[in-house]
Amino acid sequence: MKRLLVHSCCAHCAAYTFSYWREQGYETSAFWYNPNIHPYTEHQQRLKAMQTLALEMGLPLITAEGYDIIDYFRQVVGHEAERCRHCFKLRLSKTAEAAKEMGFDAFTTTLLISPHQKHDLLQEIGREVGGEKGIDFLYADLRKRYSDSRRLTKPLELHRQQYCGCVYSEWERYADITIE
Ligand code: SF4
Repeated sequence: MKRLLVHSCCAHCAAYTFSYWREQGYETSAFWYNPNIHPYTEHQQRLKAMQTLALEMGLPLITAEGYDIIDYFRQVVGHEAERCRHCFKLRLSKTAEAAKEMGFDAFTTTLLISPHQKHDLLQEIGREVGGEKGIDFLYADLRKRYSDSRRLTKPLELHRQQYCGCVYSEWERYADITIE
C-alpha cells in the first residue's frame, strides 16, 4: 500500500480529508507544521484538537519540532498582501522534506478542502515544491466536502478557530478589512 503524508492545518479540515485518501487506498499519516498560527496559545489549542482527532481516527500524527514563528515572519514581512504564497511554501516544503526523509510515496495537504484558502495557488505551490524535493504532490479538489468534514468533528466538541491563522488574518477577520 502506498504511504501518504498529509500536512494537517486543523482537525476540522483533516476529518474528511483523511477518510477520502484512505478510501483511495493510501496508508495515511498526519503531519503538523503550522508556524503561521498565532498567537502560540491558539496554535496549541488547534494542535490539541488535531491530537484528539488523530486518536479518534487511529491516525499516526507526526509533529514537527519547534514553532518556527520567526521563519514565518522572515518569509512574509514586506510581502503582506502576498503572504499566503510564502506561508504555503514554508509549510508544504517542510512537509515534502519530511515525507521524503521518512520514505513516504507522496504528500498532500488538508488545506485543499477549505473554500477559504487560495485553492489554485495551493495546487501550484504543492506541485512546485514536489518537483523541488523530488516527491509527488497529490491533488484533489475536496471543497464540496468542507461542511461534511466539519459535521464529522462536531460531536468531538473540538476548539474551532475564528480566523485563518496569522495575526494579519485575525486583524482582517475582526476589523473587516483586507490587507493590500
Ligand atoms: S491568511 Fe492563512 S494562509 Fe494566508 S498567510 Fe495567513 S495563515 Fe497563512
